[in-house]
Amino acid sequence: MIAEPRLASDPRRRIPRTDSVLADPRVVEAARGVGRAAVKAAVVAAQQRAREGRIAPEEVVAAAVSALAAGPRRVINATGVLVHTNLGRAPLSQAAIDAIAAAAGCTDVEFDLVTGERARRGRAALAALAAAVPEAEDVHVVNNNAAALVLAATALAAGREIVISRGEMVEIGDGFRLPDLLESTGARLREVGTTNRTTAGDYAAAIGEATGFVLKVHPSNFRVEGFTAEASVAELSTLPVPVVVDVGSGVLARDPLLPDEPDVRTALHAGAALVTASGDKLLGGPQAGLLLGRADLVQRLRRHPLARALRVDKLTLAALEATLRADPPVRLALHTDVEDLRDRAHRIAARLGKAAGEVTDSVSVVGGGGAPGVELPSVAIALPVEYALPLRLGDPALVGRVAGGRLLLDLRSVPPDLDDEFVEAIRACT
Ligand SMILES: *Cc1c(COP(=O)(O)O)cnc(C)c1O
Repeated sequence: MIAEPRLASDPRRRIPRTDSVLADPRVVEAARGVGRAAVKAAVVAAQQRAREGRIAPEEVVAAAVSALAAGPRRVINATGVLVHTNLGRAPLSQAAIDAIAAAAGCTDVEFDLVTGERARRGRAALAALAAAVPEAEDVHVVNNNAAALVLAATALAAGREIVISRGEMVEIGDGFRLPDLLESTGARLREVGTTNRTTAGDYAAAIGEATGFVLKVHPSNFRVEGFTAEASVAELSTLPVPVVVDVGSGVLARDPLLPDEPDVRTALHAGAALVTASGDKLLGGPQAGLLLGRADLVQRLRRHPLARALRVDKLTLAALEATLRADPPVRLALHTDVEDLRDRAHRIAARLGKAAGEVTDSVSVVGGGGAPGVELPSVAIALPVEYALPLRLGDPALVGRVAGGRLLLDLRSVPPDLDDEFVEAIRACT
């Protein structure tokens, strides 16, 4: 490696030395119970990241501490993004967490305690889902929405064609693209229409012997405005092939707050043969893929050999059932009145006393998980931006967003029962 000349202003000169990082009390604390070599490796790796300019020299201690911390860290999501993919999407309700704990040991996931005989796997969760969506003749649950689409494509269109609008060939995040996912099953995509306009006639013209199904995908992380047209599910359902609708976020029934967000019940009512959705976006539950619709199709999917490789574990089934029985945090956050948030913010500011940040208006969003373009009025505690790093390093970590040179801690994405920890986290940094 060629040594680069170091100027006096070179930030790399500020990278702390190994022994000083090792002696930092936060590193000493995090290193408890970790072997000496592993601690040193974590420090050297953090210094290296700073040398490469990927983190600031001031963040070396933080990077070492976070590398040493065992297991996932608890985070209070004050970003104002209700479904934050980088923070694990939907936080589970206490009922769902309790259900997971109960199911963690041995449980009746495939057993009938009354008859003492084998029973259908996850029947309680499936019954709860079916009850929530009376329009569905049958339901099935897999690992995530991507898995639901793969299963549908494999079982219904492998070696055949999926007819899809050019405006719905979407990338869902982290470089994953739905068209690639669908083609990985051996199905061919038959693209129709244009990026901004696709009509029912475009679909009709493309349908033939080779068609497995028509797929309608909700563009859940962007919006196309202006000279646009799309075919409705009702129009498509008159075609002589099944219409599969990927609604994305898992809203089960129409929500007046999210007028443009497609929901499962409306799609089925309009004639969709099969609807797929995620469990951990606006449904507010665990990572899962929901499949709902015509009994014959759901049955084919459930009995397909691939279904076994995509099946969900008992913890997911337990959490999903609990999520369907009571409003989970994401839905409560979505429907909280902004004046309630303001009252909370003032109570929090009063408790913070002299350390107080300022109560300020904010705007929350649903996030990559759905409802693109919808802005939810919110209220935040604003602090100097210097708080961002120490708050992220707390336990639990408190993560906000930087806007206008300030750190905003948006209360809409923070469940109210975390207010005490929220206040403590800020106090610990002042
Ligand atoms: C999020 C999303 C997916 C992927 O769902 P996962 O549950 O993350 O696999 C697929 N389609 C749409 C429309 C989405 O919004």
